[in-house]
Amino acid sequence: MAATIVTHGGTDMPPEEKDGCETAARLGLQKLGDRQDALEAVVTAVASLEADGRYDAGVGSLMGMDGKTLELDAAVMDSRGRLGAVAALQNVRHPVKVAQRITDTPHVLLVGQGAEEFARRIGLHSPFEPSVKAQRKFREYIAEMKKAHDDDEGAEDTEEDDGKTLVRKFWNFPTSWQAAVDRAGHGTVGAVARDEAGHFAVAVSTGGSPPALYGRVADTPLIGCGFYAGQHGAIACTGIGEHIVRNMLARTVYEWIISGTPLQAALERAIALLPQGIDIGLIGVTATEAHVAARKPMASAILAL
Ligand code: ASP
Repeated sequence: MAATIVTHGGTDMPPEEKDGCETAARLGLQKLGDRQDALEAVVTAVASLEADGRYDAGVGSLMGMDGKTLELDAAVMDSRGRLGAVAALQNVRHPVKVAQRITDTPHVLLVGQGAEEFARRIGLHSPFEPSVKAQRKFREYIAEMKKAHDDDEGAEDTEEDDGKTLVRKFWNFPTSWQAAVDRAGHGTVGAVARDEAGHFAVAVSTGGSPPALYGRVADTPLIGCGFYAGQHGAIACTGIGEHIVRNMLARTVYEWIISGTPLQAALERAIALLPQGIDIGLIGVTATEAHVAARKPMASAILAL
């Protein structure tokens, strides 16, 4: 079976922005062509997307609601049992590379300051300023939050408020909510691959999904939620993480594949599982198939040797 890689730029990135996904897929495919394994290919692809600046990952990550904190999540997994993840990691341009190095430790997940110290120890500590796009998105988002604040003054909390009211209610950044409002910015990148030896791997990375409280972690670094890889294939998810977690979506899709559901049908079924109006996208690869599915058109690429 030919070596294959699939990449995506997040549910919020339209197909017009797919060139970064194509570049990432080409770099990953080169690794597969050089006989490197599927894990090396997906890490290379995701690192390229983290460096791009347009996607909500790595240097393009969206800011926390205080306008300065960047908390990044990433994970890798392959069909040979390698598994590593980081969550709420700060001051690192390539969280996916840190996640890859965690596969060399006795652990599978490091968070917060411990993850940052680990990154320092392995030479991957690399602070950066939020991108211009992230700063613009932050200003737009705060303007929306301020509107929600003004409109909802005294109103009951509702699910339809997209979390804005609840984020204000439970605000836990060291700076005040009012300071954020007065100052008046989701996405993940991912790759799945099959190498010539028939091994599968997945890598994912995100800057998160505002509005979010300080320390929020969702699907991306959680095994079986935002990602899964095993003997039957590899799956990566993007979208509002809390919904993905509740459905343990990547592992659920993987189970459907094991029971014989064709990949495309399994990805579509996953989308149908989430409430209408919730952004969701998935990529997957099996021994015979490679597909992308999303609720709205999403930047992605599929390449094979
Ligand atoms: N799943 C990511 C998160 O919730 C965001 C996304 O994929 O759009 O952190």
